[in-house]
Amino acid sequence: MVTEAGGTIRGGQPSIPETEPETKPQRLPLGPIQNIHVFWMAGMSCDGCTITVAGATNPGIEGLLLGTVPAMPKVLLHHPVLSVEAGAEFMQSFKDAYAGTLGDPYVVVFEGSVPDERIAARTGGYWSAMGSEVMAGEAAGGGSRMVPTTEWLSRLAPGAAATIAIGTCATWGGIPSAEGNPTGAMSVADFLSPDYRSAFGLPVINIPGCAPQGDNFTETVFAVLLFLQGLGPLPSFDELGRPSWLYGETVHRGCNRAGYYEEGLFAEEYGSHECLVEIGCWGPVVNCNIVKRGAINHMGGCMEAGGVCIACTMPGFPDKFSPFYKAPPGGIISTTLSRSTGAVIRRLRRLSNRHVSREVRWDKTGRSPSGWGHVPGPDMGIKAMEFFYQKWQHWGSRKPGRNAGEEKRLWGGTRPGLPGDYVDDGVTEGPGK
Ligand code: SF4
Repeated sequence: MVTEAGGTIRGGQPSIPETEPETKPQRLPLGPIQNIHVFWMAGMSCDGCTITVAGATNPGIEGLLLGTVPAMPKVLLHHPVLSVEAGAEFMQSFKDAYAGTLGDPYVVVFEGSVPDERIAARTGGYWSAMGSEVMAGEAAGGGSRMVPTTEWLSRLAPGAAATIAIGTCATWGGIPSAEGNPTGAMSVADFLSPDYRSAFGLPVINIPGCAPQGDNFTETVFAVLLFLQGLGPLPSFDELGRPSWLYGETVHRGCNRAGYYEEGLFAEEYGSHECLVEIGCWGPVVNCNIVKRGAINHMGGCMEAGGVCIACTMPGFPDKFSPFYKAPPGGIISTTLSRSTGAVIRRLRRLSNRHVSREVRWDKTGRSPSGWGHVPGPDMGIKAMEFFYQKWQHWGSRKPGRNAGEEKRLWGGTRPGLPGDYVDDGVTEGPGK
């Protein structure tokens, strides 16, 4: 379909001929890199990704900026909010990178989704922009225009050592690209096309999450820089460009509530400590490591803090997971199954828990020294069950302690540890009697 601006629309998302990535060969230094520039740009963004990266600890952003992380080049960050420079001084490095005169390699980091600037241009505006330029041509009359961030992405991505999309807006379009949006927002990869390769031959690297964990970002940057330094292999990425060691598992597998799911115990309201699937958690089908890693400094994380997983790391977010307060339809089958099997398993585990909550000594003496409360001893039924349980547990292996015939030492002395040794009938007073 041909648009008013003369561009074509493919697969529901418009291409932007005037801002398509430019193929510009770059000369990049070989060998260890001393400095690397990071050009951070923001499209349709809330700056949440910036905030989460500022809180990263493994490695921390401070270490990368100061060049104190071993084997890492010093990172020179150009960030529209965090940089000290402003105005023309701030934009100069972007221009140098575009002109190929920067002198050091650079990485592009894009936060927020990429809007279709042609839509805004129809009314003479823009969705997101950074810096201004004097317009060329007599008709412009020497006037200037704001340069859309999209255009900077198009200019700098081809020469970048790597282009990293951070956050779900940049990786999959996210909330700004939800049904009904007016901006035509899309992901960085949608904008740059599947053929995009950085100067070092890498497709777009995606670190999804709304916001993603800062450590997922800095750890990926660390791994990519090690590769660029020639000190490590190219980290493994999955078919969607996500670091596979970070996004290869579902959040459910690392969830601190997964045991409740297995035992068929489900929360009916927020604030409960049980599994949240029936009040809207999508964790079993969502690739994310938030609970394993924690949100910041190994603390927090959605289910850890009592929230359901709304699948913010997934390409289908948000439309495929709304409304967020409803249980995922697919969960009905597995929750019904785990409810029925979990009821049996729970009872058996309770019996085992009682068994392992007693010292061996207490079993032999028949009493517990706890002053805090009554520790129930085993009744006949439990004793019989424990007898067979122990037989099974030690089948084909040696049981702790001594077997029959081993009670005497070689030189004839008796060893302590026989049932009678636990009670000294000669002591009639004192603690423990
Ligand atoms: Fe899985 Fe969500 Fe339940 Fe955690 S709260 S166990 S992620 S379904």
